[in-house]
Amino acid sequence: MEMLNETIGASNNNNKSNSLHSEELLNIKRILDEQKEILKTNRETRLEQIKYGHEATKDPADMAGQEADAERLWLFLSRDQNIEHRVNKALKRIDYGQYGICVECDSPIPYKRLLIDPTCELCINCKSELELAN
Ligand SMILES: [Zn+2]
Repeated sequence: MEMLNETIGASNNNNKSNSLHSEELLNIKRILDEQKEILKTNRETRLEQIKYGHEATKDPADMAGQEADAERLWLFLSRDQNIEHRVNKALKRIDYGQYGICVECDSPIPYKRLLIDPTCELCINCKSELELAN
């Protein structure tokens, strides 16, 4: 029993620390930075496509098609904006030393899981609870 208490005590002492090595964290940061760059380029390209599409034709039939295209582009843009927001939040958590820690229960999130989705904020348990609740 005494040993068990000691173990709990020890794990309480380093609460709010993730289980990541500094190389792993650097690797994740690199992935996030890359994602950010890609998102930025995508946004610029899409905004140009929207602008260009509006100027390109005067034919009503084409214009209808282009409006649908523009709508699709705006959808992509807002989806990218969401991802960008998540990427920025993840980068901020790295700066604050909170990265890789579940925002709900403070459990460390495994590196493997973070590699699959570097922007994830929840451990697998909290995530599945959330999904069940929805
Ligand atoms: Zn959790």
